Amino acid sequence: MKDRPLRCWAEIDGSALRHNLSVVRSRIPQETKLVAVVKANAYGHGLVPVARELVKGGADVLGVSNVEEAAELRAAGLGTTPILLLSACLPGEFPMAIECRAWPTISTYEEAKRLNAAAQKSGQRAIAHFKIDTGMGRLGLWGAEAVKELKRAERLPAVDIEAVCTHFSSADEDPERTEAQWAELMRWRPHFAEKALHVANSATLWRKTVYACSFVRVGLALYGLPPMPFLRRLLRPVMSWKTRVTLLRHLCAGRTVSYGATYLLRKAQRLATLAVGYGDGYFRALSNRAQVLVRGNRCRIRGRVTMDQTVVDVTSTTGCKVGDEVVLLGAQGDQVIHAEELARIAGTIGYEIVTAVGSRVPRIYR
Ligand code: PLP
Repeated sequence: MKDRPLRCWAEIDGSALRHNLSVVRSRIPQETKLVAVVKANAYGHGLVPVARELVKGGADVLGVSNVEEAAELRAAGLGTTPILLLSACLPGEFPMAIECRAWPTISTYEEAKRLNAAAQKSGQRAIAHFKIDTGMGRLGLWGAEAVKELKRAERLPAVDIEAVCTHFSSADEDPERTEAQWAELMRWRPHFAEKALHVANSATLWRKTVYACSFVRVGLALYGLPPMPFLRRLLRPVMSWKTRVTLLRHLCAGRTVSYGATYLLRKAQRLATLAVGYGDGYFRALSNRAQVLVRGNRCRIRGRVTMDQTVVDVTSTTGCKVGDEVVLLGAQGDQVIHAEELARIAGTIGYEIVTAVGSRVPRIYR
């Protein structure tokens, strides 16, 4: 039914995305290529529409986690933009990487050999980026071992290793550790001096300009989430997350709210039930602590967030009605709830707040 109201939805602001893209661009040298990281459904914002917008805005490469995300982009008609796979491929995934013309990130000769075999079988050449561990401890080998594997991989006939990369573990919180990782990479740089290089994620763009190298791999800042608090004023949040009041009730003192009866009314209150729960990605850890915006007022959650419904206190919100739009993330009146606020309460990071917004929450692109 066309006129049915949305119960719980996320609005994706294309102009904010374009704004953030231009902020990111302004931080990197002109010759540096921008890998726009759109993995995990573009951090919850919607893989294909966001990727399209970023490519239109000048992103040079799309960064995804795996071949399935790459295939989704290709199937959606994003045929020509290079795609970098940021996670390691499973042995059986290399043929699909070649089919999608995606560039695997490899750490070992073993992976290069598998890629080479898949390339030879398909009659095509494959491009790969080679990761070196300098302290992230997730992908890549260290120093001499990595260089040895790289040299062997370079001799494979159907694989072109076009770039060497590393990943910083603490670019947002520890400039010294970041610099130590950079120094470790530079120690080995003479062994692959002719190759393109990339190290930078969002936070790194606000550290040293030398870290920009040949490519930067940027996600968070594009979505308007600040890698460091001072960037909040420079970046515009791309996602707003909304729901509606489905029921209003007056409850008297002594009543309790939701599972576990963790909230006891000490006086009569007006409570609104909302169409959102942890089934939508609204974390249960927000129970009794987070606030939402109703008619421009901050209203606190009462009791536990349940799978599909959450109760908030609207006692001081005059005029609240069933059907009212409620903001979980974003602005209403002069109030704003940022992902960082929910992250702090839930004991997590902004990345997880937006990425966890569930598949039953439609994304509306504006
Ligand atoms: N590079 C790699 C290897 C990543 O895993 C990620 C994100 O997790 C990024 C770059 C983008 O990082 P950010 O979202 O902090 O810009």
